[in-house]
Amino acid sequence: MQLFRSQELKIYNSLTGDKEIFKSLHEGSIGMYVCGPTVYSNVHLGNVRTFMSFDMIYRYFIHLGYKVRYVRNITDVGHIVDDIDDGEDKIAKKAKLEKVEPMEIVQRYTIDFHNVLNNYNFLPPSIEPTATGHIIEQIQIIEKILKNGYAYEKNGSVYFDLIKFNETNQYGKLSGRNIDEMLANTRDTDGQSDKKNPQDFALWKKAEAEHIMRWPSPWGIGFPGWHLECTAMSTKYLGHNFDIHGGGMDLKFPHHECEIAQNEACSNKSPVTYWMHANMLNLNGKKMSKSTGNNLLPSEIYSGGSPFLSKPFSTNVARFFMMQAHYRSILDFTNDGILAAEKGFNRLMEGIDILNKISPSDDTSIDIKKWKSNCYEAMNDDFNTPILIANLFEGIRYVYLIKDGKETINTEDLSLLKDTINSFLFDVLGIKKEKNNSDSSGKLESVITMLIGMRNEARSNKDFAMSDLIRDRLLELGIQLKDGKDGTTFSL
Ligand code: AMP
Ligand code: ZN
Repeated sequence: MQLFRSQELKIYNSLTGDKEIFKSLHEGSIGMYVCGPTVYSNVHLGNVRTFMSFDMIYRYFIHLGYKVRYVRNITDVGHIVDDIDDGEDKIAKKAKLEKVEPMEIVQRYTIDFHNVLNNYNFLPPSIEPTATGHIIEQIQIIEKILKNGYAYEKNGSVYFDLIKFNETNQYGKLSGRNIDEMLANTRDTDGQSDKKNPQDFALWKKAEAEHIMRWPSPWGIGFPGWHLECTAMSTKYLGHNFDIHGGGMDLKFPHHECEIAQNEACSNKSPVTYWMHANMLNLNGKKMSKSTGNNLLPSEIYSGGSPFLSKPFSTNVARFFMMQAHYRSILDFTNDGILAAEKGFNRLMEGIDILNKISPSDDTSIDIKKWKSNCYEAMNDDFNTPILIANLFEGIRYVYLIKDGKETINTEDLSLLKDTINSFLFDVLGIKKEKNNSDSSGKLESVITMLIGMRNEARSNKDFAMSDLIRDRLLELGIQLKDGKDGTTFSL
């Protein structure tokens, strides 16, 4: 019997503001869409936190026995600087600055994104579609919205008509905004813009002569608006009704609000049952931001090359640090915080080493079944990973009591304890299993893997001098790297 049949999972639904009992549309299957990165620069550790929250959620669904189709897109066109319709496309801007093709920017940062996720032990999504690969689908959606009367064309651009939409629907229901207040608080366009009112958003923008990312459309040469890609790709791969749509908290408005409006205007349906939003990662109490320098790259964690870190940390420790906070809470990254997480993580791993050496007794003095059900209870309460981790530490406390002869455990309970800790720590929380954590060959392997990760980062940043240096120094030590289509391997 699949586990999900015996577990009552509750999920906080941002749309209703309630924790609701999760029921998938099709028994045993889940469709989940998560907004992916805009690939115009390296992802920072904050972005990694959001994707890691959904990686953990995906992992728990799989653990429960669901068949999940997980779609996470790549935004490679349409995301405008400062999210305003009349600004510059983030990717086109970077391409112009570096005098390269926009797709070179896209390629470079998509590779960087994949390297980062690989180093942090993410499961790949089932489908990773790109916005530029779905221009036709986006045009078809605009045509439908126009036909249904919720959009208008002006000078080669198409805008969503929010006032018209709000006559029959409710714009703002996800983020709790009121359109009348929004309209009252903004100046009208004074004829300066093609929009009927400033809150309307672009579905298609006319490409001016200097705009380098451009496609033909029924309204002339142009490019799609940002919000449209997710409507096109989620419904294409998950259907007009699907279970979960997720993203970072900052995407609730306007991105997800506009997605809902587009969907309703197109098919008269609100396609998503559960909207889920992961909270932000701050750095030393302040928002992470590349422009202010209050920023940490995922590779700086294991290279230690950041003024915010006193030393390098493994990606496992960084993952453990993030999993110690609930996905809906703001998490503040500090050097002291990750040092404390490292201590806890090492204690847990030492406990697991001892657990693997314990011999069973004839009887059990601890209620392992109750402890196991507490672990599920934590995860079933809207993926409460901090409580789960507290339960895992409780399991390790039993290990020491058994080792010291203060408690006993029989064969069946010993394997239940081992299986439960292993499943939750490695399969659900996504901690990478390191062979022989305590012995030196395991540590050597981890160090080489870390150096391969740093070399990949250097290569994706076109720092070939650094990537060659890492390869050559390792070779001098008798460690040969081999680049293959599935990544880099090594031989001693
Ligand atoms: P972007 O590439 O800007 O579209 O962002 C990718 C994802 O990272 C989105 O889901 C954002 O909500 C999320 N994100 C951006 N900044 C942070 C942060 N400081 N902490 C957590 N998530 C973030
Ligand atoms: Zn999106």
